[in-house]
Amino acid sequence: MIPIDSVTPDEYPNQTNNPIDSQENRPDKPEEACGVFGIYAPGENVAKLTYFGLYALQHRGQESAGIATFEGTTVHLHKDMGLVSQVFNESILEELPGDIGVGHTRYSTTGSSRKVNAQPAVLDTRLGKLALAHNGNLVNTVKLREELVNSNCNLVTTTDSEMIAFAIAQAVNAGADWLDGAIQAFHRCEGAFSLVIGTPVGVMGVRDTNGIRPLVIGTLPGNPVRYVLSSETCGLDIIGADYLRDVEPGEVVWITEEGLASYHWSQKPERRLCIFEMIYFARPDSQMHNETLYSYRMRLGRQLAAESYVDADIVFGVPDSGIPAAIGFSQASGVAYGEGLIKNRYVGRTFIQPTQSMRESGIKMKLNPLKDVLAGKRVIIVDDSIVRGTTSRKLVKALRDAGAAEVHMRISSPPVTHPCFYGIDTDTQDQLIAATKSVEEIAKQLEVESLAYLSWDGMLEATREDKNSFCSACFTGDYPVTIPEQVKRSKLILEKVVV
Ligand code: SF4
Repeated sequence: MIPIDSVTPDEYPNQTNNPIDSQENRPDKPEEACGVFGIYAPGENVAKLTYFGLYALQHRGQESAGIATFEGTTVHLHKDMGLVSQVFNESILEELPGDIGVGHTRYSTTGSSRKVNAQPAVLDTRLGKLALAHNGNLVNTVKLREELVNSNCNLVTTTDSEMIAFAIAQAVNAGADWLDGAIQAFHRCEGAFSLVIGTPVGVMGVRDTNGIRPLVIGTLPGNPVRYVLSSETCGLDIIGADYLRDVEPGEVVWITEEGLASYHWSQKPERRLCIFEMIYFARPDSQMHNETLYSYRMRLGRQLAAESYVDADIVFGVPDSGIPAAIGFSQASGVAYGEGLIKNRYVGRTFIQPTQSMRESGIKMKLNPLKDVLAGKRVIIVDDSIVRGTTSRKLVKALRDAGAAEVHMRISSPPVTHPCFYGIDTDTQDQLIAATKSVEEIAKQLEVESLAYLSWDGMLEATREDKNSFCSACFTGDYPVTIPEQVKRSKLILEKVVV
């Protein structure tokens, strides 16, 4: 089996991570996973609808983007490094006709950032081509890779997503139909996977048995109803689709000319949605549990104020992700809400290195403090998380340089002490500041008057859902899917790993 879009890795030797975002200037946040989008809409311009779906999901991955469309048995594919708006234009979209679309926007978690690893992955099979877009991370890639290579699969990328595509193709080539072949492949996968899989006859949406990464179903009005799959509801809103429901953990939906059929491929689904999706990754206007994440994040702020009030003149959030929690903090505490930092919304991703003096001046390329608002004030700054602490420290210094008299930091999640193995890049454990330092020590390092994190109970109670229905392993080390020892060793530097 050979992928039809095979490219030798050597063709793109230099397309690695953005230099500005690498080394000490990498964003001091867990890096988001990927965005996936799928559509079955005969008669519609599926390439354009997929483009706008991906455009809304851009925050989930900014390294590469791709769209595959099915025009009968023919697949049209375009993918490249860069933002959705850089990878596609009108004339490229015109070259992507068809009734079915599969789209992907990528941040690399398994496999480096190169064009060869961009998705969708397209493979030839006995029943025609398949196009697969994956959000998440498998934890049994070593074993799966070995099995696939031993059965003569010609893997050309370094991604776990390609392995899933090969596992499906293998089952189909052995005689299974699309649905059975896909289900056989899902049983070989362990870890986090929300997938959109296009075929000549329909599109599938699937979530792993824990539903760690989100995936929703939407409908486009009309007769017959046309279906849409998206990582988040913001991908539905942008094209005027109505939210129907979530794909359930352990469910596969198969959308064909006969409509939408649902199958539970896993006998033991156990919901464990990534709580970080709710705190930070997903867009605030996306809906989870029947409300926008903006509302949940405001409640986190209210809870934070209840747990760690401090008297101050102004409270504001680190734009944009800290803002809803800062508003909630203000409402619950009575401390006036304002703006103390302005974000440069057009900074994007640049490949031009800043000068040394710009580097030393800290964070101002992205965030600029409002001097006259801050001068002489006792400020509370609210952020959603601290990972390494490097940006927070620069931020505090910038606030003091702008004249703040006191800086109190409040974090609307608990300390991040463990790395993620399910599709979020959170560094190795030794680089997580809270894995090695107490809250007091972190406060000292950040040079703030006070620092407080939200409690784990507070974070989960604010969801108003069953606490056991979330993964919160990066705060506790309690991983819902067992991590093989050799994978653990790659990131859990401070844990005792039993060999
Ligand atoms: S470990 Fe953390 S970031 Fe990873 S899935 Fe669990 S909650 Fe989300």
